[in-house]
Amino acid sequence: METVSDYFGSLVFDDRVMRAKLPGKVYESLKKTIDEGLELDSGLANAVAEAMKDWAVSKGATHYTHWFQPLTGVTAEKHDSFISPSPDGGVIMEFSGKELIKGEPDASSFPSGGLRATFEARGYTAWDPTSYAFIKGKTLCIPTAFCSYGGHALDKKTPLLRSMEALNKQALRILRLFGNTTARCVRSSVGPEQEYFLITKEMYDARPDIKFTGRTLFGAKPPKGQEMDDHYFGVIKPRVAEFMEDLNEELWKLGIMAKTEHNEVAPAQHELAPIFTTTNVATDHNQLTMEIMQKVAARHGLVCLLHEKPFAGVNGSGKHNNWSIAADNGKSLLSPGDTPYENAQFLLFLCSVIQAVDDYQDLLRISVATAGNDHRLGANEAPPAVVSMFLGDELNAVLEAIENDRPYKGAEKTQMKLGVDVLPKFNRDATDRNRTSPFAFTGNKFEFRMLGSSNSIACANIMLNASVAESLKQYADLLENAENFEDTLHELIKKTIKDHKRIIFNGNGYDDAWIKEATEVRGLTNYRTTADCMPHLLDKKNVDMLTSHGVFTVEELRSRCEIMLENYCKTVVIEANTMIDMARTQIAPAVEKYSADLAANVAVKKAADSSIACRYETKLVSKLSSLTDSIAERTEALENALISLHDTSNVIEESAEIRDRILSRMGELRIAADEAETLTARSYWPFPTYGDILFSVK
Ligand code: ADP
Ligand code: MG
Repeated sequence: METVSDYFGSLVFDDRVMRAKLPGKVYESLKKTIDEGLELDSGLANAVAEAMKDWAVSKGATHYTHWFQPLTGVTAEKHDSFISPSPDGGVIMEFSGKELIKGEPDASSFPSGGLRATFEARGYTAWDPTSYAFIKGKTLCIPTAFCSYGGHALDKKTPLLRSMEALNKQALRILRLFGNTTARCVRSSVGPEQEYFLITKEMYDARPDIKFTGRTLFGAKPPKGQEMDDHYFGVIKPRVAEFMEDLNEELWKLGIMAKTEHNEVAPAQHELAPIFTTTNVATDHNQLTMEIMQKVAARHGLVCLLHEKPFAGVNGSGKHNNWSIAADNGKSLLSPGDTPYENAQFLLFLCSVIQAVDDYQDLLRISVATAGNDHRLGANEAPPAVVSMFLGDELNAVLEAIENDRPYKGAEKTQMKLGVDVLPKFNRDATDRNRTSPFAFTGNKFEFRMLGSSNSIACANIMLNASVAESLKQYADLLENAENFEDTLHELIKKTIKDHKRIIFNGNGYDDAWIKEATEVRGLTNYRTTADCMPHLLDKKNVDMLTSHGVFTVEELRSRCEIMLENYCKTVVIEANTMIDMARTQIAPAVEKYSADLAANVAVKKAADSSIACRYETKLVSKLSSLTDSIAERTEALENALISLHDTSNVIEESAEIRDRILSRMGELRIAADEAETLTARSYWPFPTYGDILFSVK
C-alpha cells in the first residue's frame, strides 16, 4: 500500500524534483533565488520551464496557468495548453522560459479600484519562484504576482513579498548589531489554523441565503446549540472523518502539511491546522486549502462554509495566524535564548512587535475587515474589535522589572540588567492560556486571532511584517549610531515598554469593562465595522510607513481602500436583496398559508358547533397576522432604504450609509421573521431550520 511519505508532495515541483530534473548549475542558481530572494538569471528560465513541463506532462498535465491572487480574495487562473503544432500535423508539448516568467491574462474584470481603467485590459503576471509550482487536475499551476502595466500591484502576493523583504532588511540590520554575521536572510513564518462548517448539500440547496451570501439571514435559535460544549474535540462523525481523510490526502499531495483536525465549538464546525512555513508559501497554501476543502466537500455531498458567521447566535469561524520570525540559520527570533546576549536580542524583537501592534493597531484591524468578519469580532466568541496583546504573567513581570529598574523575581542582581541576567524559559502552557486575546504570545510566536475564516492571510501578514519592519528600522537607526551599544539598548527597551505598554492586556478580552478601559483610559481604537476602520488605511501615518518601506504605493493604498469598501457595500446589498426576496416569496406566503388553514379550521369547527370558542386558532391567527404585517412593513422599509442609498461616487459615504441604514433594517426584518418561524407549524416553513442544518451531517 502507498504510504503518505510515498505520495506527499507528489504534485509539487519541489526541491526534490528540481534537484533530480534540473542541470546542476540551473538548480544551484534557482535555489539561490528561492533561498535568498536573488533575481533569477533569465537565461536559465528556459531550462526550468522545460523541466517543469516534462515533469508536469509525465503527471498527466495538459495545460499550464499563472495562478494568482487578485483583490477579490480568491485565486484566479487562465489555462493555456502546452500543445503546439508539429510539422507532421501532430502536436508537441511546449513551454518556454518566457511563458514561465510572464503571462498576460485579460485582466480587465479584476477589481483594480481605479488603478487600471477597465478598457485597459493589460496586466501581467510574474512568476514567484519562492513558491513551488504544482499540479491541480490536469493543469500545471505557477504561483505568480499580478501587476498593472504601470507596475502597480493588483494582487495580494506582491505587497506580501515586499513586506517580507522590508522585514528581512531591517531584521538583518538588528542581527548584525548583535554580532550575527552569518545570517543571510530573516523570514516570517506562519501556521494558519482554519475553521469551517460542514453542512449537507440538501440543506445548502434549500437555503437561498446560504447559497447567495454564504450565511443564514434568517433562522430562529434551535432548541440545542453549542450549550453543552459536547462538540468541541468530540468524536468526529463518520461522514466528516471520510471528508477529512480525503482532504488530507489531497493536501498532502500538494505538499501542504495538514497536521491537526478536530471538531470546533459549534455543531457542524471543524478546524484544520497545517505545520507552519514561510509566510508567502503559507498564504498560497491557505488559499489552496480553502479551495480544496470546498471541492472535497462537494465530492462527499457536503458543502464547506467558510463564512465568518454562517449562523447567528452560534460560534463563528476565524483563522488563527500563528506568526514568527527566524533567521535562515537560527531558531525563532521570538524565543528567549540561552545567553544573556541572546535574551537582550529576544527582548528587542519582542519590543518591536509590541510597538508595531500599538502604533499600527488600526492597520491590523483593517487587515481583517470584511462585512462577514464584522459579525464575529466583539461577539464574545472572537476577540473584540479592540486590538491588544497578551504576553502572559511571566514575561509581563520581566518587562515590568526592566521598566522600573526593579529586581525580577529569582534574579539576584538588584535590577534586571540586559546583557547580564538570563531570562527564565517561558512555559508554553502559561503563555497559551488566554483565548480571548486578539494577539497572544505563545512561547516562540504570536497568535493573531482576529482573522476571519474566509480572509486571505496575506493582508494580515503584510501589515504585521511592515509594522514590525518599521519598529526595527527605528531601532537600527538608533543603535547603529550608539556610542555605548548596551546602555542605549537598555534605555531603548525600557522606553519602548513605557511608551507602548498600554497595548498589553492580560485579562478577559470579552469583558465589557475592558472595552471601556481600552477606549476611555488607554486610548486604544475600537472600530466596530469595516466602514469605520477602512478609511483609516489612508491616514498619513499609515501611508507614510507603508510607502517608506516600499510595501505599497499611495495609489495602491487608495485603490485597496476603495475596493475593500466597495466589497463591503456589495456584500451587504446582496444580503439585503436576498432577505427581501426570501421574506416576500417564501416567508410571508408560508405564514399566510398557515394562518389561512387555521382560519379555515375555525370555520369548520364553528359550522359543527357555533359555541366552540376556537381560542387557540384565533389567538394564533391574530399573532401571525400582526407578524406578517411587520414582515411586510419591514421588508418595504429595507427596500426603501436600499432605493434611497445615495448614488454617490464616494464609497466612504456609501459604506457609512450602509452601516447606519441598511444593516439595522435587516436586523429588524429578521426579528419579525424569526418570531414567525417559532409560531408556524414546521411542515409549512419554507426552508430548513437552524436545527435541521446544524445537525444535518451524521
Ligand atoms: P496550538 O495548537 O496549541 O495552538 P501549536 O504549537 O500546535 O499550538 O501551533 C499552532 C500553529 O502554530 C500550527 O500551525 C503550528 O505549525 C504553528 N507554529 C508553530 N510554531 C510556529 C512558528 N515558529 N512560526 C509560525 N507558526 C508556528
Ligand atoms: Mg492555536
